[in-house]
Amino acid sequence: MADEPQNFPPGFPTENPKGDTPPTPQNGEPSAQKPPPPPLPPGVDRVEDAGVFQMLWDCKYCNTKKLLGVTHKFCPNCGSAQDTSARYFPSDEEAIALEDHEYTGADKQCGNCGTPNAAKAEFCTQCGSPLKDAKTVALRSEQVAGAEGFAADSKANAKQDFTQQKSGLPSEPPPAPKSKKWWYIGGGAAAAALVTVISLFFMTRTVDVRVESHSWTKTVKIEAFKPRAESSWCDSKPFDAYGVTQRREVRSYNKVADGETCTTARVDRGDGSFKKEKRCTTKYKDVPVYAQKCYYSVNRWKYERDIQSRGGLSDTPVWPAVNIRTGTCLGCEREGGRSEAFVLHLVEVKKADKKHTCNYDEAKWRSIPDKAVKKIKVRLLGGAKCDTLQ
Ligand SMILES: [Zn+2]
Ligand SMILES: [Zn+2]
Repeated sequence: MADEPQNFPPGFPTENPKGDTPPTPQNGEPSAQKPPPPPLPPGVDRVEDAGVFQMLWDCKYCNTKKLLGVTHKFCPNCGSAQDTSARYFPSDEEAIALEDHEYTGADKQCGNCGTPNAAKAEFCTQCGSPLKDAKTVALRSEQVAGAEGFAADSKANAKQDFTQQKSGLPSEPPPAPKSKKWWYIGGGAAAAALVTVISLFFMTRTVDVRVESHSWTKTVKIEAFKPRAESSWCDSKPFDAYGVTQRREVRSYNKVADGETCTTARVDRGDGSFKKEKRCTTKYKDVPVYAQKCYYSVNRWKYERDIQSRGGLSDTPVWPAVNIRTGTCLGCEREGGRSEAFVLHLVEVKKADKKHTCNYDEAKWRSIPDKAVKKIKVRLLGGAKCDTLQ
């Protein structure tokens, strides 16, 4: 490495005749005009600034290594312009902090000679070309490390990083696309199967059926008033509960903050510096909330049984005799609704083992005689469409 101090080419503009740079805070008090903090990365609850440091770069002409990204815009040994594609992160031990480094944006790369220039420069420091349409230099991918620390970085890593960026591949390990693919295939197959089942359900064929017999049932639902074993949280126990026992049980869980997990990220700022930040995510634990659970008896009406009468075409349909002990005593009963059904029992003429039952209203049920042969639509998956009987 050369010992003589480096003569930096003039023109790294400090004054700006057109005044189109962003307003610079006066007296080094940037807090007044500080923009709102950038949104937190997903899943991160807190970001802690961990300082700004110089990137390193290796000169490809004289092979001088570990030149400083901000201080050495040109190789102090041979004078070549900084190779921004050779910028790499220093190890924690070698990192040189930047105090009071004003960040104006990522460097612009001169379209004529390739020299990187400060974001606010208007003309190339090397060749004088205007930088109005110059592109900003490519940034290294963000590096994130947990407690294990960062892996060593180098010029070679930088090259690999930029190659991966150009090919459109994420430089981080790619998120398992396999599982997604299988998900799509599985989902597609399931959808196809569902469509098939639905269409089979709606597709029908017409068959000849013979009426084997007629039957009817008349049903009276009976409810009983009896002790029922029930439970509820004691604050919502019914007033007439008896034989109550209590037990402390988990009613819900409260999420309570329980420390945090942190990673450190190195973010290339494109001007030869990088910032380090600690990104922390709050950990939570579930803390059970207990309450008294009550177990008790209550006397309640509930469905108990059916009373039915049945018959065929020649029997007069009548409701069953309902002989129950009414009242409000324990064990007393009451009616809980009535229903009736008039059923035709059909058998397919060509396949005697294929039987169907159809419910109709009493008039239609009576109008179709036993042994009559009718046509009916049957679903491919089985089951007659009773309204298609002719
Ligand atoms: Zn050099
Ligand atoms: Zn230039």
